[in-house]
Amino acid sequence: MTITKIPKLSKNCKDITDQRFGRLVAIKPTNKRCGRHVIWQCICDCGNECFVASQRLQNKQTQSCGCFKKDLLTQRTITHRMSKTLIYSIWKSMIQRCENPKDLSFKWYGGRGISVSKEFHDFQTWYEHIGPRPGPEYSQDRIENDGNYERGNIRWTTQQNQCANSRPISCGPFRQFWFRAWHKDMMCQFMSNSQSKFAKKHTLHGPSISACLNGKQKIHRGWIFLKI
Ligand SMILES: [Zn+2]
Repeated sequence: MTITKIPKLSKNCKDITDQRFGRLVAIKPTNKRCGRHVIWQCICDCGNECFVASQRLQNKQTQSCGCFKKDLLTQRTITHRMSKTLIYSIWKSMIQRCENPKDLSFKWYGGRGISVSKEFHDFQTWYEHIGPRPGPEYSQDRIENDGNYERGNIRWTTQQNQCANSRPISCGPFRQFWFRAWHKDMMCQFMSNSQSKFAKKHTLHGPSISACLNGKQKIHRGWIFLKI
C-alpha cells in the first residue's frame, strides 16, 4: 500500500484544493516553491497535468496547461487564412468576369466592355486602394456603373446600395440568384443560382445560406457565401 504524503500547508498559504482556475483545477500542493509560493499540481480540462505556483493561479496569470493559448492561436490563424482566401477570391472573380468569356458573369462585365485597369492586376495594389472589406454584407462595386475597375471607381458597398446605384436591369434575377460559395477547407469555389439546390447538394440549411447572403450570418458550416 502506498501512502502519498501530502505536504502540510504553512499558515500563510491558502488551501485551494479542488478550486477551479479557468481550465485548471488545483489537485494538491507540492513540496516545491516558487519564491514564497507553493507550487500546486493541477489538472487541465484537456487532460494534461501541470504544476503552477499558487499566486499565478489566484492572479489568473495561468488558466490552462497552455492549451488555451494554442486554441486561440489556431482560431486566429484559421480566421486570418479564411479572410485572406475570401478577399483573394473577390479580386480573382473581378478579373475572371471581365476577362474570361467562360465566366458565368462575363456577359455583364467583360462582354459589356468593363475592364480591370493594369495596376489592379496586382492584388496588393488593388487591396491597398479598396481597403479591408467592412463586413460580409459588402461586395465590390463600381461607383460609375459603366466605368471600369480602376483607381477612383471602386468601393465596398452593400447589395442594397449597389442596386440603388445600378440601372434597373442589374437588379433582375441575375443579381438575386447567382452567388459564389467557398468552404474554409477547400481551395476551390462554387457558383450557383439556386440556394435550395446548393443546400441539398452539400447537406446545408437553405435559410442559413440566405442569411449569409444577406449579411446576417458570417459562415454556415464552414461555408462562406457571396452574392455576385
Ligand atoms: Zn490544457
